[in-house]
Amino acid sequence: MADILERIQNPLLRGVTGAVMGASAATMITSGLLGLSKLESPRVHQLSLYAGVAGAAIAAVWGGVSKPLPPRKPTATAPAKQDGWTDWRNLVVTRKEPESREITSFYLQPQDGQALSAFQPGQFLTLKLDIPGQSRPTIRTYSLSDYAATPDTYRLSIKREAAPKDQDVPPGLASNFMHDQIEVGTVIPCKPPAGKFVLEVERDRPVVLISNGVGITPMISMAKAVAAQNPQRPLWFLHGARDGSYHAFREAVPAIVPENAPFTVHYRYSRPRPEDAGHYQSTGYLDTDLVKSLLAPQFSAQDAEYFLCGSPSFMDSLRSGLAEWGVPDRQVYFESFSKPVPSATGATATATDAIATAEVVFAKSGTTATWNAGDGTLLEFAEDQGLSPDFSCRAGVCLTCMCAIEAGEVAYDEPPSGTPDDGKVLICVSQPRTAKVVLEI
Ligand SMILES: Cc1cc2nc3c(=O)[nH]c(=O)nc-3n(C[C@H](O)[C@H](O)[C@H](O)COP(=O)(O)OP(=O)(O)OC[C@H]3O[C@@H](n4cnc5c(N)ncnc54)[C@H](O)[C@@H]3O)c2cc1C
Repeated sequence: MADILERIQNPLLRGVTGAVMGASAATMITSGLLGLSKLESPRVHQLSLYAGVAGAAIAAVWGGVSKPLPPRKPTATAPAKQDGWTDWRNLVVTRKEPESREITSFYLQPQDGQALSAFQPGQFLTLKLDIPGQSRPTIRTYSLSDYAATPDTYRLSIKREAAPKDQDVPPGLASNFMHDQIEVGTVIPCKPPAGKFVLEVERDRPVVLISNGVGITPMISMAKAVAAQNPQRPLWFLHGARDGSYHAFREAVPAIVPENAPFTVHYRYSRPRPEDAGHYQSTGYLDTDLVKSLLAPQFSAQDAEYFLCGSPSFMDSLRSGLAEWGVPDRQVYFESFSKPVPSATGATATATDAIATAEVVFAKSGTTATWNAGDGTLLEFAEDQGLSPDFSCRAGVCLTCMCAIEAGEVAYDEPPSGTPDDGKVLICVSQPRTAKVVLEI
């Protein structure tokens, strides 16, 4: 009752509501007690009436004088898909802007002229690209690299992926296509913003955003959301780059910081050029020692929450460094953009809880096949059967491959960083756990 009253902002309404609730409560209690006592005198009914009136009076006074709770803060974490956008929708590229020698931003607006969905800072967009020479559309996910509570444009900032130096393989398919072929006016089908690597803006706990390379994209969205909606929240923006030419948004990030806000921006370059002087704060690789040195004078490790995004080795070293420093796991959030590095032998790992042999039914396509340990993930197995389920990251992050499981269970080698909806599984990182698995596909 107290909780309900404290949420009513108008004192008169609070008093009246209190009176009604108090009278009802007192009448119910006395009637119950009198019923139990089995008394039949008319005075008993008078007593019940007096109790009701007294309850109403007390609750009315209480309702009138008690202080209301502050109205709930509008949250930045409005769910996406609020406008019924659930499947592919055409967005048009309205601007293309280089940000560094490897990263280019693409601005997108809906072709239908309707509003765009709100999104949570840290979420990503899934794109479907028709790339010449590919037998099927290429699906990729890119973080939204800007933030507005009611966006009229989305921005994606994409790094051109070169081929690894020591390997004779083609360069990144989608990122190079975006850089070379996508121009203002191109229409790209996109799914609504999604993803669970999100910052709860309204919390008070200090927040430390740590990125390197193109991992800066979700951090900008997070920093902008805090600046707009909770600027008193202590925030550190720590970013590592090779040098100024690889550093996207160098000037844009300090410009986000509201006046007098407790924000610290720190750039660390591993190989700064002479012309970078004055544009970065320290030299070397961004590591836990830097985080400690910046935070320790003001906060203990446990006070803050940490968001990590960057290269796999960078995140591995920070995650273990933060754990050693005493930061609880539940306060460290991370997102990886790249697929896990294949094992040195090229062998396919089997999830610890996976079964040795299973019957896998792909319901929609009417295909049934026997999966054996060594056949890889359910996504790889589906592809081996000639099926083409949607996928993007193949690392359990982006949820593109999520599908309903109609019978049986699957095993993950590690809990995926993207959490599938109830009754659904991520086939890109799972294998059968039971003798029979039925998937919706
Ligand atoms: C949630 C999420 C958010 C993301 N956000 C961003 C973002 O904001 N900005 C961004 O730039 N990226 C982002 N990514 C990464 C993005 O989705 C793509 O993975 C990235 O652009 C590479 O895709 P690609 O098609 O260009 O490369 P791919 O064709 O997938 O190739 C990837 C790499 O593998 C190499 N390669 C190609 N063939 C082989 C082979 N046979 N053997 C070994 N290596 C090979 C390529 O040379 C390339 O270096 C995000 C990923 C996720 C999961």
